[in-house]
Amino acid sequence: MKKTFFITTPIYYVNDVPHIGHAYTTIAADVAARYKRLAGYDVFFLTGTDEHGQKVQQAAEQAGREPQAHVDDLHVRFKELWVRFSISNNDFIRTTEERHKKVVAEILQKLYDAGEIYKDSYEGWYCMADERFWTEKDLVDGNCPECGRKVDKIKEFNYFFKMGQYRDWLVEHINQNENFIQPRSRRNEILGFLKKPLDDLCISRPKERLSWGIPLPFDDQYVTYVWFDALINYISVHGHLEQIKDSDYWPAAHQLIGKDILTTHSVYWATMLKAIGLPLPQNIFAHGWWTVNGQKMSKSLRNVVEPNRLIDQFGVDVIRYFLLREVPFGLDGDFSHKALIGRINSDLANNLGNLLNRTLNMLKKYFKGELPKPDVKGDEDAPLTAKSAEVIKQVDALYDELAYSKILAKIWEFLDAANIYVNDTAPWNLAKTDDGKKRLATVLYNAAEACRVTAILIAPFMPETADKMMKQLGIDTPVDQQGLDSIKKWGWIQAGTQTHQGTQIFPRIEDKAAAKILESVTLGDDDSISEKPTEANGKGQITIDEFMKVDLRTAKILEAEKVKKSKKLIKLKVDLGTEQRQVLAGIAEAYEPEQLIGRTVILVANLKPAKLMGHESQGMILAGSNDQTLILGGFDGDLPPGVRVK
Ligand SMILES: [Zn+2]
Repeated sequence: MKKTFFITTPIYYVNDVPHIGHAYTTIAADVAARYKRLAGYDVFFLTGTDEHGQKVQQAAEQAGREPQAHVDDLHVRFKELWVRFSISNNDFIRTTEERHKKVVAEILQKLYDAGEIYKDSYEGWYCMADERFWTEKDLVDGNCPECGRKVDKIKEFNYFFKMGQYRDWLVEHINQNENFIQPRSRRNEILGFLKKPLDDLCISRPKERLSWGIPLPFDDQYVTYVWFDALINYISVHGHLEQIKDSDYWPAAHQLIGKDILTTHSVYWATMLKAIGLPLPQNIFAHGWWTVNGQKMSKSLRNVVEPNRLIDQFGVDVIRYFLLREVPFGLDGDFSHKALIGRINSDLANNLGNLLNRTLNMLKKYFKGELPKPDVKGDEDAPLTAKSAEVIKQVDALYDELAYSKILAKIWEFLDAANIYVNDTAPWNLAKTDDGKKRLATVLYNAAEACRVTAILIAPFMPETADKMMKQLGIDTPVDQQGLDSIKKWGWIQAGTQTHQGTQIFPRIEDKAAAKILESVTLGDDDSISEKPTEANGKGQITIDEFMKVDLRTAKILEAEKVKKSKKLIKLKVDLGTEQRQVLAGIAEAYEPEQLIGRTVILVANLKPAKLMGHESQGMILAGSNDQTLILGGFDGDLPPGVRVK
């Protein structure tokens, strides 16, 4: 029978601007999903967006649009970020989709018919922003205890789910299932919460107050409370109720959440499932919060760790690695650029980068890059292969606990062992004698296999890096096809493989560059980052007419020379079909003039001319850049000069 594995992130609130916290949960789920796929599981990894409720309705109203159009636009920000972060989700569910709404209605009707839902009057203090009622004693100075806003006294009829009756059962379930809520501190928190009587859950909102929700199937004057609606996403993705019951993917192996939504998941969700007659997830794992450089995340601090900006600056894999290595999953953590740079230099450039580089270097030097057949065995071999077997086993067990930081520490123990192996065998000495060369073949074969084992082990965390390593090792079989089994026995890599040493996978960040980065993250240097939730529908966007004002054209480079006394500028003569222009471009650090001639680039043709270092520039050439690289924009086919680009 095929082993299945279902893992979920929360569905993210669609009005939120995606930040490092969202990325953290999603990357964590992605790593577990990728590992289980490597291990041969049939994996289903789900994420999505929560799109109903008062705040969405209000934001849409403010933007002067229909809520559906509003969420159709906003949810894309999450989808796009997940593509950038190499997230391998199998589905992306939105609570405004028909497939979801149908199942919510089906479940509500079933519970209503079974007497699990009843109507009653309710009086309390209502906070509009938080969409919830408070009792008199909850209030702080007469205001909402959560957000401090003014609350309104409201009396109304609503529908309630009989949650309270399940308290004893839930306590029993938590006690009997050690791993149901992790980490342990969170489990204790919920057991503490359940010592008090458990209220029934108000699951409706009158339509007159809130229309943006799923209508109750048995009373069209009401819509469903957002949480009751949202939680069902984890099962509605599998189809209607009978299909869910038959699904190989339910119950979930892990449901990852932030610690702020622990109660909704371990109490509301658990009792809902009980009432529906479905098994509970095997594990709900609540992770901690990130501070930034020792401070609580505020708006300006959020900009500093804005996910897209971090990717531009450091690369996807570095961020994926750092977030899961720096802090044990479940605890609060601090994001500091200093610690990040430290990790890049010590763990990635030194430890990982060195092993790969020197292995490939020596293969090139002593065997023309061709992997030799192992020949003479030595005392150093057994400890290396034993360490590999030990680490692979330990890593597998640690995945059950989602102990990402420990997993990486284990993998780095193996890397240390491999680097020590190279030091102790001293290939540079072996190369000096004929006898030594026989031993050298074995040593470099083993070093290359150690690189491959490492690449497979880090692949769930750093998929791009693993692919790059395989390429340099000359292995065409993709990582997922090699699979975890390929490293359980030493010696999968084939003698005769032609390795290709490429660029360093993780260049060191030198002190000067590090200082520059640290300076740039001091607060308030940049307010342009995407902290613009709803402006996206107003001033943040331009119309097609506005865009068309920019006259972009293909231009062929005819001549190129460096501008004297300038480090960055190259003077170009370009052909626009109808005319030739002189353009200055700040690309000298990335391109040699000779590389540029004959190339077709994109020119902003109607830019006002400007003088740069005494030369007139009649236009601007488009290029993409981050701190490390600059690459000219272009086309993946041939176009004649002067063609409009749009
Ligand atoms: Zn509030």
